[in-house]
Amino acid sequence: MAERVCVSHDWNHLLICPVCRASLSVTESCAHCGERFEIVEGTPRLMSERAATTVSFPFSSARSVVPDELKRRVLNYAPTNTTGQLPYHMDAAQATALTKLPTGSLVLEIGCGGGQNRTWMKSLGLNYLGTDVSKTRVYAHLQAHGGPDMLADAHFLPIKNDCIDCVYAAAVNEHLASPVQAALEARRVLKPGGMYLGNCSFMEPWHDESFFHMSPNGVIELLLASGFDIDFVYPGRGWHGFKALPRMAFMGPMRSFAVLGNLFNAAYKAQVAFANMRRRSKGRPPHNPLLVDAKVAGAMTWIARKPAAPLTRGNEASA
Ligand SMILES: [Zn+2]
Repeated sequence: MAERVCVSHDWNHLLICPVCRASLSVTESCAHCGERFEIVEGTPRLMSERAATTVSFPFSSARSVVPDELKRRVLNYAPTNTTGQLPYHMDAAQATALTKLPTGSLVLEIGCGGGQNRTWMKSLGLNYLGTDVSKTRVYAHLQAHGGPDMLADAHFLPIKNDCIDCVYAAAVNEHLASPVQAALEARRVLKPGGMYLGNCSFMEPWHDESFFHMSPNGVIELLLASGFDIDFVYPGRGWHGFKALPRMAFMGPMRSFAVLGNLFNAAYKAQVAFANMRRRSKGRPPHNPLLVDAKVAGAMTWIARKPAAPLTRGNEASA
């Protein structure tokens, strides 16, 4: 049976009811709409099947095709200067971006699993709030990191507008029924100018009930639909589809088949090297290395920002 205790955290003042979006003074129930929330082994579960919204965003025919100029500007590997062991699933350039945040910045991790990034984030002097939909759907060795601070649905974040410095969501978006709604929520809770770091499956197998796997254009459109300024979109480093498909598809004694992925990747790279040789001999530039990687990327990564000036349209919460 769930405990009935009032849990107090230093981010308690940021909480809203996921149903009616009124401020929450305790995590057990909403004084405004009366919704009651479970506490799962000491962790507030600020989720409700009553939460509902209409997903809407502006769209124009100009976005039916991603302009080459936009692709040239955003399809680039973000710079890294991070050394040492990175946490599970962490991209080196995203780690670099996180190390540049001012001390005391609040990072909201969506889909934090076992909370395995908490210690690393705190070592950077960052405040950390980890959310997930469950305490137990990740591997046992990840659960040992303290788990989520609260359970929440990425489509209905129980968090006030404009209060988060950075939203971090790794390997999450492919598991969302409405990636646009979740990205709109990420933008809503971010401070103007706040950073949105994420990645999403591209050429990974269908896994863990995933919904939408995203190509480079898909990621760009998701970020534009949800009103972000895009800094970088790039393939997950070292995680090409030739590796991702067999690694995630073959199990048990068949796991060693994953090595075949390296052969396919080597053949693909050899093909590109040969094509580049021919291009150079004809005085043409080589293929763009990022596009070569993106064509077979296992996942796509992004660094985006909420615009500094607030947008005036209908998706803002009323709380
Ligand atoms: Zn409420």
